[in-house]
Amino acid sequence: MNIPPVRLPRHGLGAGVVILSLAMSGCADARVPESRTPMAPPVGRHDVNESFAAWLTKFRVDALKAGVTAKTFDRAMAGVTPDMDVVDSDQNQPEFVKPVWVYLNGALSEKRVTRGQVLLKENKSLLNAIEKKYGVDRNVIVAIWGLESNFGDFMGSQHVVRSLATLAYEGRRQSYGRTQLIAALKIIQAGDVGPDGLLGSWAGAMGQTQFIPTTYLAHAVDFDGDGKRNIWTSRPDTLGSTAQYLNVSGWEPGATWGYEVKTPKGFDYAQADMSVKKSVAAWGKLGVKRVKGIPFAKKDETAAASLFLPAGHKGPAFLVMNNFRTVLAYNASTSYAMAVSLLADRFRGRGEIVGNWPTDERPLTRAEREELQSLLNDKGYDLGEPDGIIGFNTRKAIRSYQVSAKLPADGYATSSLLDHLRR
Ligand code: CA
Repeated sequence: MNIPPVRLPRHGLGAGVVILSLAMSGCADARVPESRTPMAPPVGRHDVNESFAAWLTKFRVDALKAGVTAKTFDRAMAGVTPDMDVVDSDQNQPEFVKPVWVYLNGALSEKRVTRGQVLLKENKSLLNAIEKKYGVDRNVIVAIWGLESNFGDFMGSQHVVRSLATLAYEGRRQSYGRTQLIAALKIIQAGDVGPDGLLGSWAGAMGQTQFIPTTYLAHAVDFDGDGKRNIWTSRPDTLGSTAQYLNVSGWEPGATWGYEVKTPKGFDYAQADMSVKKSVAAWGKLGVKRVKGIPFAKKDETAAASLFLPAGHKGPAFLVMNNFRTVLAYNASTSYAMAVSLLADRFRGRGEIVGNWPTDERPLTRAEREELQSLLNDKGYDLGEPDGIIGFNTRKAIRSYQVSAKLPADGYATSSLLDHLRR
């Protein structure tokens, strides 16, 4: 996936697209008591637990200051030990980043489309009520549900308090871990769920909507009216919470997410960037047309749109609008937003892509991605320490290089670009 490993979306870690990278090695050494000699055995579990207990005593003071009661804290944290599996869960970024077409292929599987269609029918009256209250398209709500937890099948079975305590105590995500752990304790304090019921992913994304605790506190709703917010086993609460979150994130009722388009010959691809917004009509004047010769809807002509090329200028092109950006609030990955939007369309029997994916492009290995970054650095496009993550800065540097080399400036990292840089 195209999300930097250490970046967390506001929402959480749905669809497995975000990777927390934790550096356990080295930090452990820092906790070795001074009396240890170089001959001493490596730090064992006992020492970790001892150091964790000391950390917990300090953290308790901060949690109480933040409004967690002593009773809640002591009940929830009783017997909690650090979970080294959480630390191991993502030590390294993957060797290959999945190409977007491979990701979409899995996300939009026929099985998921069919099941989503069945669930839309089964939950018709519930979705009527949710749509009425929040104005969010039911297809999008169900698409998110399908991508976040496969309609509730995979919510994660980790004890969120233990996972977050581990993240707060150890590694590069301590600030995230602390904030989320305090939020998790407040959820328990509110009585929505007991410590043992607070289950989720190893990184703290919980329930069928995969909300991280702060998102839960802000956006989970009690749609079935039983007095508790329950995104684990209540379908009304799950789907209502998703809709509520999209609603406050700026969902525009009745608006489309975007269109598949075609760009004209000689198009300036430097404009194909999520930061560039133009009206649909203005894109039309630049020669951007809807596929299959269908005109843009009249009502969308003034809508602000960005041209999005998920796989560079050789692949399909899309004009994406407000509701696409709203889905990004849920998970800050454009591939994810693409998957949600297309899955929602598939439920309605649409959403087939006309353009061809550049499947002959070989994905770059991590070493190659780092080489590409270091070659760009050498040429004066300062993008910092090479980390193998093709993020905003790298794409920007690629564009600048492409412009100077008179290549289509789509900001897309390919093996042919790497070859060009090596020359
Ligand atoms: Ca409820």
